[in-house]
Amino acid sequence: MALAAVLAAGCAPSAKTRAAGKNGKPAQITLDDALVQFSLVSALAAGDYVGDTPLADLLASGDFGVGTFSHLDGEMIVLDGKIYQALADGTVRAADLNGTTPFAAVTFFSEDGQITIPAANSLEELEEQLDRQLPRHGAPYAIRIDAEFPTLTLRSVRPVYSAREPLVDVVKDQITWEHEQLRGTLVGLRYPGWIDTLNVAGYHWHFVSYDRTIGGHVLACEFERGQVRFDECSTLVIHVPQSKAFEETGAGDVKKQDIEKIERQRTPRARP
Ligand SMILES: [Zn+2]
Repeated sequence: MALAAVLAAGCAPSAKTRAAGKNGKPAQITLDDALVQFSLVSALAAGDYVGDTPLADLLASGDFGVGTFSHLDGEMIVLDGKIYQALADGTVRAADLNGTTPFAAVTFFSEDGQITIPAANSLEELEEQLDRQLPRHGAPYAIRIDAEFPTLTLRSVRPVYSAREPLVDVVKDQITWEHEQLRGTLVGLRYPGWIDTLNVAGYHWHFVSYDRTIGGHVLACEFERGQVRFDECSTLVIHVPQSKAFEETGAGDVKKQDIEKIERQRTPRARP
């Protein structure tokens, strides 16, 4: 990827003035602490589902994250340097690294701290507790939660091979599964509100079970004990797609409300 926009989460250091970092030393943009994003969620929302990023390139940018596959063929879970594909039939497989992604974000997960959360009756409650305990509200985070979940509702979407169909319509046909007493890992990213239409503000969770047979995008869950680890990302890198499809998407016309509908369509009782 030749084109990359680099946005520092705090102050963007210029050639002349660099923001003071920890220890009073100049803050350097270190890509090993970056959250690296391929394409924009607005491009996905506008129907650019094919993608030109090889999955091998994705793993070169991080070992932890979420995304989707070419033609929206399943939910992507990147965990411990492996890419899992949770398909619309409910199965999970190791992704073919020759495939591509139209949208994903990854980082090299390096733990900055842990959070103690005794229990949460819903995903929203879990997120509220994280909001209270994460050190900074203005920074993006990668969050890894290993636990046994009393209940867990997952979704995946059917692949889209036809001409463009807006993502808001695709997710209306999402397939959902409810599980009980499931052990596994929540792979989460949290973006602050300033992300606007580049990604989805708030939390985005995918799940894969310990035995790697069950996975998907998380719509709801209950949580009881488990290990909650976070990695604060100091830099955001956005790879701009080179494809003709991206040029034609009209990603700039996508509204924030449409993007929120896509990722927040959690359960009928979930917050709007
Ligand atoms: Zn998702």
